[in-house]
Order: sequence, then structure tokens, then C-alpha cells
Amino acid sequence: KTFEDCGFAPELMRAIAKQGYEKPTTIQCQALPIVLSGRDVIGIAKTGSGKTASFVLPMIVHIMDQPELQKEEGPIGVICAPTRELAHQIFLEAKKFAKAYGIRASAVYGGMSKLDQFKELKAGCEIVVATPGRLIDMLKMKALTMTRATHLVLDEADRMFDLGFEPQIRSIVGQIRPDRQTLLFSATMPRKVEKLAREVLSDPIRVTV
Ligand code: AMP
Repeated sequence: KTFEDCGFAPELMRAIAKQGYEKPTTIQCQALPIVLSGRDVIGIAKTGSGKTASFVLPMIVHIMDQPELQKEEGPIGVICAPTRELAHQIFLEAKKFAKAYGIRASAVYGGMSKLDQFKELKAGCEIVVATPGRLIDMLKMKALTMTRATHLVLDEADRMFDLGFEPQIRSIVGQIRPDRQTLLFSATMPRKVEKLAREVLSDPIRVTV
């Protein structure tokens, strides 16, 4: 399998090559075609597997494929992660590829000024990477609206549950249109995460690495 097989546009292929990614990792080989097809996915994969690109690259393709959304406001892709460190890493990975298209990515997480993050979100973005608690804060402050969101990623779902974020995750999911594409990544699938997946994903395909 190659990145060419995914049918990525030349700009995106150049951005991938610039990162030094020569061929897709195992999770990317398995997940990219399914995510690109628009199906919901449960990905059982750890950090280091290359899972981030397996949801970030299709998110960029989907954003570019929906020009009718460009006149609306708020993020099109919403990515939730358990910790500020992971959220920041995902943000950096998204930015590498989003830049080629002028797609704006923002990161919001605890420990940063709420006012600064409020202003950044108000300025607009297509992709938001967030820890669940801070995203809820920003929604309450009306820093963003999720009416345009069509792609939701729950990354390291098991860790988000361990950190007690289940209510926040459920609240966020409830604020995003039901015909969204939802991807759930987790290193392990405890019963509670399995239950959430059953409730918030529709007819998901399971990918395990
Ligand atoms: P992740 O598991 O998404 O955190 O990725 C782990 C590391 O692998 C990150 O530094 C990525 O930039 C890198 N990476 C992701 N995909 C590829 C690839 N296809 N080839 C080489 N490195 C990659």
C-alpha cells in the first residue's frame, strides 16, 4: 500500500513527502481507506502507530470536499484528546498538513489562558483539537458553534474515561449533528468505552493493530 492508493491530491502528497512519510504505517494502511469512505471507525491503536495521520489526513480531504460549508462558522473537524500534551501533538500534526490548504487548526486545553483561546476560536478555524473540559468551557462561553462540525474524533478514549471525562464527551457528542462521521481510537476497549462506541458511532468498522 502507498499514499498514492488513497487518492490524495498533489498538494497533500507533497505535504506528506515533506514530513518524510514514505509509506503508510499499518494503522494508516487499514484505516485510511475506510475513514476516507466516510464510515465510522473504532481504531484499537497506541501512540507511535501513526494513528494521528490516519484521522487528520481524511479530515483535511473532507474539509476540502465541502466547499458549501466554507461560508459557515465553527470547526468542521473536532478532535478530543485526554491531555494537553496529546492535544498539542495532534494539533502540530494537523497543522503540518492543513497549512498546504490554508485550513486553520486551533488547540484548546487546560493550563492556557481562556481569554486567549476564546479570541483564537472567535477568529475562526476549521479544525479544533481540545481536551473535553476546556472545549465545554469554550462552548459555554460561546467561543465557537458546532453547527458546521461533521467530523468527530475521540482519541485515546480509554484515557479520557480514566480521567473522568465521560460526561464531557457525552455532552460534546450531543452537540454535534447526528449525521457526522465519528472515529474512536483507544489503546484498550474496556466495557464502558465499548458502550460509548455502541451509542455514538453508527455501524462502525473495527481496525486493530
Ligand atoms: P502517532 O502514533 O500518530 O503519534 O505518530 C507517531 C510518529 O510517527 C509521529 O512522530 C508521526 O509524525 C510519525 N509518523 C506518522 N505516520 C508516519 C509515516 N507514514 N511514516 C513515517 N512516520 C510517520
